[in-house]
Amino acid sequence: MHNPQLIDKYGRQLTYLRLSVTDRCNFRCYYCMPEEGMDFAARQELLSFEELYDLSALFCSLGITKIRITGGEPFVRAGIMPFLRKLSQLPGLEEITVTSNGTLNAKQIKILQEIGIRKINISLDSLDRERFFQITRRDSFDAVYASILNLLNTGFEVKLNCVVAENKNIQDILPFIELTKDYPLAVRFLEEMPFNGSDSFQAPQWSHHEIYQHIASTHPNLEKLESEPSSTSVNYQVPGYAGSFGIIPSFSRTFCGTCNRIRLGATGELRTCLYGPPATNLRDLLRAGLGSEQLEQAIVEAVANREKDGFAAEASHSAAAHESMSVLGG
Ligand code: SAM
Ligand code: SF4
Repeated sequence: MHNPQLIDKYGRQLTYLRLSVTDRCNFRCYYCMPEEGMDFAARQELLSFEELYDLSALFCSLGITKIRITGGEPFVRAGIMPFLRKLSQLPGLEEITVTSNGTLNAKQIKILQEIGIRKINISLDSLDRERFFQITRRDSFDAVYASILNLLNTGFEVKLNCVVAENKNIQDILPFIELTKDYPLAVRFLEEMPFNGSDSFQAPQWSHHEIYQHIASTHPNLEKLESEPSSTSVNYQVPGYAGSFGIIPSFSRTFCGTCNRIRLGATGELRTCLYGPPATNLRDLLRAGLGSEQLEQAIVEAVANREKDGFAAEASHSAAAHESMSVLGG
């Protein structure tokens, strides 16, 4: 039977699609986009929901079993909830997860629960209202925190993504660990990556080593947890705490050897590595009238040409630091 799989030349099978549904956002996080002057895609440049669905179905026929919905902020796109409802019935798709900045409302949370979405990642870089504002350039801490509590009460498995940076939120690292004492959530600390939509980026002073040392100096008896083979985070727990935490070497890139991800941007750009250039644009191929066999061929080729790791991918491409994560699909 014709049943191709997405396996690159280093033997990694791609089973996880990160699907960006919009490049727009109601926040302006300093590490993701400039405060002003973002040049968002026009509506007709975005993949329509029908195109997003058809491409998702194609990916599932190629062995993708998990899709993460991301952006931009997924919940700012009108029509997102009916799309998710339809996607949740896609044959072959075992799991849908979502990444959001936490400005989704109670009604949306209810629908996510109804359609069987169980896991959600919320970006939260500070537990302090003022620092939250400095980081996101929006005064929305209370709304985001309330959504997190609502998600936990509704039974979601919640992960918090926290981008760690000097002069921004070092004071928040230990309070985040304390949050895991009573709440069964996982906080993941990330190194800042060079995708802020501008030319200015300096390698992070806080790498995974510094983050770990900082936490271990207060909690010397951390327990290391088992993680899935394709996990990007190294996970730990303070003994007796309800939740856990993880550290993601997103700039150091120590996890590329087991990476199982592929990304489709909101305007159709297909990336086999976050640090590399797009391999092709599936929207353009789709709108040029290519059939599913030819699209499948384009995806298989992109995967075959996948670089070994994020350093090789970055070297093949000069514009990385100019891109915003909201365009790449975080
Ligand atoms: N708007 C949603 C959110 O913020 O969760 C989804 C999209 S956002 C681009 C996805 C993730 O990328 C967020 O957790 C965000 O913190 C992370 N991110 C964005 N820019 C980053 C950067 N330059 N370095 C590290 N992480 C980044
Ligand atoms: Fe928006 Fe998410 Fe980017 Fe922040 S990280 S600006 S919330 S897309």
